[in-house]
Amino acid sequence: MIKIPDISEYSKLRNILGVDVLPPQEVTWELTDACNLKCEFCSVAANTTNSQMKELTYSEIKNVMNSMKNIGIKSIALSGGEPLVRDDIWDIIALGNEFGFDITLMTNGTLLSKNINRFLQCGGAHSVQISLHAPNPKYHDQIVGVHGSWKKVIEAITSLVEAKIPVILYTVLYS
Ligand code: SF4
Repeated sequence: MIKIPDISEYSKLRNILGVDVLPPQEVTWELTDACNLKCEFCSVAANTTNSQMKELTYSEIKNVMNSMKNIGIKSIALSGGEPLVRDDIWDIIALGNEFGFDITLMTNGTLLSKNINRFLQCGGAHSVQISLHAPNPKYHDQIVGVHGSWKKVIEAITSLVEAKIPVILYTVLYS
């Protein structure tokens, strides 16, 4: 059973902090720690034996979204790992849109272009955050450890721009 904090608990913080405390408005949700890339800097230990995550099922996700809606969450950022490696990701995105959340998709971008129609059929997203680590394939592919990734990211960005979905680019700084 997944437990979501009772919204009334947040008001108790006023007694401790002396100021009004709003309940959470936004959630960043790691749907999986699996990924199709191999970034050296990966913070979730994707695809390694250090991985301890037990993914929630679609049914469990639906229950959690329902609880989030009830306590006033407005925005959900779907993250990972790489969220698009989940077989049920399109159903999850559609569900989030049905609940009326502002959905942000946080992705490495490599699986999006070929699935852009499916993504749009699910209602798309408020915005998509994509990792682009260099303006050329040589350094980007070296950083993420998979040849051909940069080209797929560029294709994903192009598809999103054509669909008029806001794109936010993330990059790591390195020397
Ligand atoms: S894309 Fe993200 S989750 Fe995947 S290996 Fe790179 S940092 Fe880790």
